[in-house]
Amino acid sequence: MEVGMTTLDQLAVQMGTSLGLQELRVGVTLFGSLIADKPPNIGVVKRMLRIAWAAFGNVQIVDVKDLIFSIKLDNEEAARKIVDGGPWTIMGFAFCVQYWPLTLALEELNPSLISYWVQAHGVPRGQMNGETAGLIGAQFERLIGFEDPDQPGGMRGYFRLRVELNALNPLPLGIWLLRPDQTQSWVEFLYERLANFCFQCGRLGHGLDHCKFESVVDDEDGLRHYGSWMKARISRDLHVSPPIQLPVESRRRAVATRTVEAPIASGPSS
Ligand SMILES: [Zn+2]
Repeated sequence: MEVGMTTLDQLAVQMGTSLGLQELRVGVTLFGSLIADKPPNIGVVKRMLRIAWAAFGNVQIVDVKDLIFSIKLDNEEAARKIVDGGPWTIMGFAFCVQYWPLTLALEELNPSLISYWVQAHGVPRGQMNGETAGLIGAQFERLIGFEDPDQPGGMRGYFRLRVELNALNPLPLGIWLLRPDQTQSWVEFLYERLANFCFQCGRLGHGLDHCKFESVVDDEDGLRHYGSWMKARISRDLHVSPPIQLPVESRRRAVATRTVEAPIASGPSS
């Protein structure tokens, strides 16, 4: 025993060293949450999840907290298919699924994160690239990747990206994209496998009839922003490129300041 170590410290050390072994033993655990303002019957939710995932082998689903579930799979392959195959929809509600790392407690997980395929319509062909992917990804919690339209079968007529969004926030609608001729054009986001959502506030989890939020209306044209057109048809998956890391750290920001050394005073030579 090391001098000065408390019992809690020792316990932490023991747990840390045994994590690797535990990972081999327990299979893969995911956690999921149903985004629903008025919770449906939990038993029915679990039954429907088991039916949806019947092809992935043995699936154990436990409700651990309000509308939050732990999901245990026998192997990594089954877990990957469930995570990458999402988002899932149960009774019209979005169901988020993520990996639950052994190193994190339930309280450290964000149950509202959900991954979607987004189709960005209105992007000029020459701007379907990593830079535009970064601009679009900035509208979401995280850009997971994008499809390079130059790959075989890649030119679909829209730019397809995998993003992670916070299901409690209104769905991002689109961006104004700057074109090379310095004009801006509206790029509209459509979502594949989009669950029912509110056409008034743009949030998942409730419908128009039960909305507690203000209606989102464009100040300029008075149009209602949200509608059923935001549900896109599902596309076949192609190769996904990872986000491009722009060297933002090395960029010199506007109005950055620096100190210029005063010139060394030199007296008139005599
Ligand atoms: Zn609403």
